[in-house]
Order: sequence, then structure tokens, then C-alpha cells
Amino acid sequence: MKAAVYYGNRQITIDDVPEPSPSKGEVKIKVSRNGICGTDIHEYYDGPVLIPKTEPHPLTGRTLPVVIGHEFSGTVVEVGRDVTGIEEGDNVAIEPVIRCGMCRPCKSGFYNVCRCVGFQGLSSDGGMAEYAVVPSHMVHKLPGNVPVEMGALVEPMAVAYHAATLGDVTDQSRTLVFGAGPIGIGLWFALRGMGVTEIDVVEPSAIRRKAIEGLGARTIDPTSVDVPALIADRTNGEGVDAAYDAAGVPAAISAALKSLGEHRTLVSVAIYDKPMLTPLLETVMRERRIQGTLCYTGKDYKSVIGLMERGHYKTTGWVETVPLENVLSEGFEELRAGRKMKVLVDPAQ
Ligand SMILES: [Zn+2]
Ligand SMILES: [Zn+2]
Repeated sequence: MKAAVYYGNRQITIDDVPEPSPSKGEVKIKVSRNGICGTDIHEYYDGPVLIPKTEPHPLTGRTLPVVIGHEFSGTVVEVGRDVTGIEEGDNVAIEPVIRCGMCRPCKSGFYNVCRCVGFQGLSSDGGMAEYAVVPSHMVHKLPGNVPVEMGALVEPMAVAYHAATLGDVTDQSRTLVFGAGPIGIGLWFALRGMGVTEIDVVEPSAIRRKAIEGLGARTIDPTSVDVPALIADRTNGEGVDAAYDAAGVPAAISAALKSLGEHRTLVSVAIYDKPMLTPLLETVMRERRIQGTLCYTGKDYKSVIGLMERGHYKTTGWVETVPLENVLSEGFEELRAGRKMKVLVDPAQ
């Protein structure tokens, strides 16, 4: 079968590799779509970061090369021994988190922060291939009216959904989302799905503003407006009830903290690989909080799939599909250059 194999920094090739077959407790998926994540871009241009180079992953025992891709959906084509409740022909979204099941976070249900956390597609073979094999517990069935292609978006949308829940919002909350990339868009969809109607999305790029406005969002251009001053004005100085950083720039952190009300939370979902100055006095003086967030658990998958079943997620203007053969030229390079927002790979093309 064809697969995008990661060999190291700037080394991904489309190889012919043996088709995997499911062992006990596993299922084999004919991949429909696999999304390219910011993490994959990072692994390709700056990595290996999370993909184990020489030290094998503690749970999978794997080092590179690996079949890359952790955001995937497809159709079950074979079921291993001792798998119940999943049948051939089921359309599924994969929850790719590999966890130990024994550490404190795993035992309390927060396996997204498992001390040995890994991912199919980084710590073992993933979904940028014609077929993938995963443990049955990673499988979430898609309802009949959710297109299997849409299933590849459950993973990034669940990242955003989980982040949204950590802001402690109600349907009366006023919220601010910094960044209108795929996770910012996911936060907007998630908050709307939770009944929040007061959402402003702060985004300096006109192209990205236009994309999210096309979905129905209200935006603020931080290059022409003082965001905290605008929020203070709109809220009689009270500030917003939750802010989300999906921008990954220090200016967003600063503006987000200044825009928050007392005791309110800034949820940080962006990845910062360099240290930066955080204006912690902004948290001290008003007892604001900064909350980190990583991935999701099955609960978030269920919430996102439930919203998809109700037709909540739209892909117009921000999601594109490319053939596996052209994953680098039409995927990685375009994403890195900022010419595309979200790219799904179709291994059958
Ligand atoms: Zn990802
Ligand atoms: Zn664990």
C-alpha cells in the first residue's frame, strides 16, 4: 500500500509498504482522509520533535521511520479477535492517543496528559496511508449522516472543544478567541455548540478573518484596534468571561489577559516552543487564571461527533483535499507558506 513515511527532518516519501493486519483487539481501517496538523509541519521542517529518533517510545517501542498522520477517519475493513461492537463497513473517526492506563492522570480519566502519552502517526504508524491498524478503543463510530471525510476533522475539532470546556463558559458568557487558524475556527464552532453567542475572534490576517467571517463569526483586526480598550468599552469595563489563545504570539497573551474579567480564565492551546515574557501581574491584580490544555478525551470526541450529526461544522472556505502523492507540494509547503488553512489527504487519489 501507499503511505507517507517520515524518516526525519525534511524527509517524507510516499513509499510502498506492507499492508498492516489487525491483531487481537485491533481493527483495520481503509483510510478516507487524514488531516495535516501543525504538529506534522513542525516535525517535517524542525523535527523530529515528538517522533522518537533514537530513544524508542516507552509504550510503542517505536523510533522513526513511522507512517505520519494522526487526524484520520475511514471505514472498518477487518476486525481482529476479541473486538466487540465494531463491524466491517462502519465509518469511524480515530482518537489517536496512546496512553499507559496506569499513571495518575490515566487513572483519573485525564489520559490526554498521560505521563507516557503518544500518538498513532507520531509514536507509531498513523493515517497518511491507504490502510491503518488501531486498537479498538481508539475507534469512534460516525453516525450515518456524518460524511466519512468529515471524520478526519473530529481530532482537531476535539482539541478545540476540549480547550473550550476549560474556559468554564455558560450560554451567557462573553468570549474572545485569539487566532483564526483551524484551532481558532474549532473554538468558534465549539463555543457556538455550547450555546455561547458572544464570541469575538481576534485575527490580524485579512484572509483568515474573511474565512471565519464566511462561517458567520464576528472578528476584530488587532492591527487597527486596541483589543482590551474595545472590550472594556463593550463590557462597561467588566471584561470577557473567557479568552482563548490559539494564536501563539506573545501579543495575544498580553491582550487576552488585559481583556479578561476578574477570576476569569485564559485558556492557552497554542504551542510555544520558545520561552516568552508573560505579564503575570495581569493575573495577580485581578485574580485571573491561565489554563493550559492538551488534546482531548473520548468525551470531547463524542461532543464533536454529536455536533457534526446536527450539521454544526461547515468546511467551506477553510478545508481542502489533496492526493497523497502530492502531500508535500500541495499540503506541507502550502500550509507552511500560509496559502492554505487546513489540508486533508486522500490516500485513494
Ligand atoms: Zn494534531
Ligand atoms: Zn498514563
